[in-house]
Amino acid sequence: MSGDLRKIAFIGLGNMGGPMAINLVKAGHEVTGVDLSPSAQEAIKKAGGICAQSISAAVKEAEVVVTMLPAGKHVDAVYRGEDGVLKHAKPGTLLIDCSTIDVESARKVAEAAHEAGMHMIDAPVSGGAVGAAAGTLTFMVGGSDEAVEQARPLLDVMGKSVVHAGDAGAGQAAKICNNMLLGISMIGTCEAFLLAEKLGLDPQKLFDVASTSSGQCWSLTSYCPIPGPVSTSPANNDYKPGFAAAMMLKDLHLAREAADSFGAETPMGHRAAELYEQFCNSDGENRDFSAIIQFLRGGS
Ligand code: NAD
Repeated sequence: MSGDLRKIAFIGLGNMGGPMAINLVKAGHEVTGVDLSPSAQEAIKKAGGICAQSISAAVKEAEVVVTMLPAGKHVDAVYRGEDGVLKHAKPGTLLIDCSTIDVESARKVAEAAHEAGMHMIDAPVSGGAVGAAAGTLTFMVGGSDEAVEQARPLLDVMGKSVVHAGDAGAGQAAKICNNMLLGISMIGTCEAFLLAEKLGLDPQKLFDVASTSSGQCWSLTSYCPIPGPVSTSPANNDYKPGFAAAMMLKDLHLAREAADSFGAETPMGHRAAELYEQFCNSDGENRDFSAIIQFLRGGS
């Protein structure tokens, strides 16, 4: 292809990958999509992309492969399987995995890609389906300087911010550390409001104090778990996600596995994972993760 327009294979066209691939089509790139779901296949064709029936067919002529898949086992199979990317793409192909997966799988696949003569970056995102559609995602990226620079023009189409966090796996590491902190800080924020309720303190007054003093954090000031103080927070929209509790639980599990494998002490991260497990098991999984305040209020 000419100029900066690239031949891209995009594998995994779900809630996130679908709109990301469509933004690449809109920017003029030739995008060949692959997904198991017929509705995802239809959507990419409707947007002006091409739909392939196998990974091997999609990647054989591609200059760039982007993946957006549910978990580490899917990423491993899509790259290292018999019909996989590494067996069928040309040496020199740039590989961008945007899925959120465990650090060890990310490093293993990147090493296999390197052995196959391809450059790979891990580039998980924050910003959710809304950010994917608007092209305003934040990418946390692991990989070589050269691979990140090659990927940057495409990441700029799909997002508004790119942080190069380090070598292979560093993007995943940054994502799970950030989201473990977010899970803990959301529970802490909920606990402060619940204690205020019992003490007869007006929640707006707690917000006014904590948002301008040392209790300040994103879970409070941008995503307040009680209705009222922050008009855009899911608490004002019946706790519709937003960021679903099931996604938070997935990230807390990844953080817990990483902490156990690498010997980090994360007692609050472990407790946050337990509380989100209980919340998800009591019908919370499809609610926004800030709705855990209702579960905590109910007591356990
Ligand atoms: P999703 O389930 O909507 O999409 C995944 C897609 O991958 C599905 O369409 C599925 O059919 C497809 N798929 C699975 N195996 C495949 C295979 N072998 N070949 C081709 N297609 C295959 O999930 P999502 O919400 O788009 O999330 C994708 C990733 O993004 C996850 O790792 C998630 O943790 C991460 N993420 C999601 C959000 C969010 O708000 N949804 C936010 C940040 C990060």
